Amino acid sequence: MSSLFIDGQQCPASGGQSIVVHSPVTGEVIGEIARGQAQDIDLAVNAARRALNGRWGQQSATDRGRVLVRIGEAVLRHIDELADIEARDTGKPLTLARKDIEALARYFEFYGGACDKVHGEVIPYLPGYSVNVVREPCGVVGHIIPWNYPAQMLGRTLAPALAMGNTSVLKPAEEACLTSLRFAQIATEAGLPAGVLNIVTGFGREAGAALAAHPGINLMTFTGSPAVGVAIQTATAANHVKCVLELGGKSPQVVFADADLDKAVPVIVGAIIQNAGQTCSAGSRLLIQREVFDQVIERVAARFREIRVGLPSSAPDCGPIITQAQFLRVNQFIQECKDSGLPVLAEGILDDNLPAGGYYVRPTLFGPVPRTHKLAQEEVFGPVLAALPFDDEDDAVALANGTDYGLVCAVWTENGARQHRLAKRLEGGQVFINCYGAGGGVELPFGGVRKSGHGREKGLLALEEFSITKTIVFHHG
Ligand code: NAP
Ligand code: MG
Repeated sequence: MSSLFIDGQQCPASGGQSIVVHSPVTGEVIGEIARGQAQDIDLAVNAARRALNGRWGQQSATDRGRVLVRIGEAVLRHIDELADIEARDTGKPLTLARKDIEALARYFEFYGGACDKVHGEVIPYLPGYSVNVVREPCGVVGHIIPWNYPAQMLGRTLAPALAMGNTSVLKPAEEACLTSLRFAQIATEAGLPAGVLNIVTGFGREAGAALAAHPGINLMTFTGSPAVGVAIQTATAANHVKCVLELGGKSPQVVFADADLDKAVPVIVGAIIQNAGQTCSAGSRLLIQREVFDQVIERVAARFREIRVGLPSSAPDCGPIITQAQFLRVNQFIQECKDSGLPVLAEGILDDNLPAGGYYVRPTLFGPVPRTHKLAQEEVFGPVLAALPFDDEDDAVALANGTDYGLVCAVWTENGARQHRLAKRLEGGQVFINCYGAGGGVELPFGGVRKSGHGREKGLLALEEFSITKTIVFHHG
């Protein structure tokens, strides 16, 4: 059974209980993880507080940066091992798992380099005064991350937090926490002091809820479902603690009649099938100008029919879905769409040799989907693409912005003026013009509006989220 990681040590859960881990590839039991609870969260928060008040809190930004860069290097040295763990735990293709580990390393390189470039401000004020604004760590940061990109999420939330001198308590999703646990050991060997990173595995409703409600937390970050986002925000509100929330999307790919389809089609399909559609920024709505609807659909459908679902080790386009519960949920969503009469335009192929107990979902393209249909509005979190026609630019904007979510948008058009107009009018944290960046770009600030959440991670802007300013006023006559 794997352990918790508190104060630089592996330790069992104080209640002695465990959670069984199933392989997404075969459905078989492949191990057990420790079922951390409120008392373990308490130990972890206390360890993080001690570390904040100790050597880590006193270290110069340059020295912190060196530690982060060394962690990035150590991750790359262990890339084969970590990619293997990530692929086994999540079922994602090994090729994708490797890219995710590279991204984890990249987060530490990027923020390691940024540590000592965070400057304050000098504000001109009244005669006889000098005013400095400095950035300080928030303190102890709580992180709850999901199972879809465990390694990337770990890097995305942890590296900027540590860069700003905070200390962390992290609760990975119980479905996929093995990479985080191994990472903690690697980071410690690379020089991260004890207590700076603490990992408590367990159920969300136990360990996760205890972390969000802990009065010793100074900042909370969460990536997951909107419903749990509300629970987290409610818990932290009781302690007046700020939250950064990333809660998924229903991201549009808007294709105009003048789009370069040779460029667009492979990217559009890739943006929905990556990680078997279990991506918060998946391009899950395909909005097509009516006059070219049939032509675009024909090309996207042809590509969809070639999507291969297979074993992670066989370099498939999609591996299995994470758990049996998600498998049943996604399949039920697809079945409801079929039962409601939505036309199926294309389906992918399941490899012949798939283990019977694994969670393999057939990628499906539906269209035309009515605008108010559940599939046009709700996140599936599986390899399901909804195609909808629009009439003109105003209609495209209304349709693209017409869900509760607002995370990522893409526009495909060769008209430069339209590119600029749409970039301004589309609602979301990122807009891609003639490209798409699901998950990519450590440098690019990322986050949502409305039900997709709030706050920004990634890029240098994340350093603002993970720090707090102090204004110092000197009077010298
Ligand atoms: P979820 O319940 O929101 O889980 C995300 C994280 O929150 C996990 O670490 C989970 O722990 C924890 N959690 C759950 N209940 C909690 C609570 N009351 N207090 C504190 N933490 C809690 O998501 P899910 O059930 O795994 O997936 C359901 C749906 O969420 C998906 O279908 C998808 O639509 C969405 N989702 C979105 C993202 C994204 O990237 N935006 C990622 C994953 C899922 P445990 O899992 O260990 O219980
Ligand atoms: Mg879960």
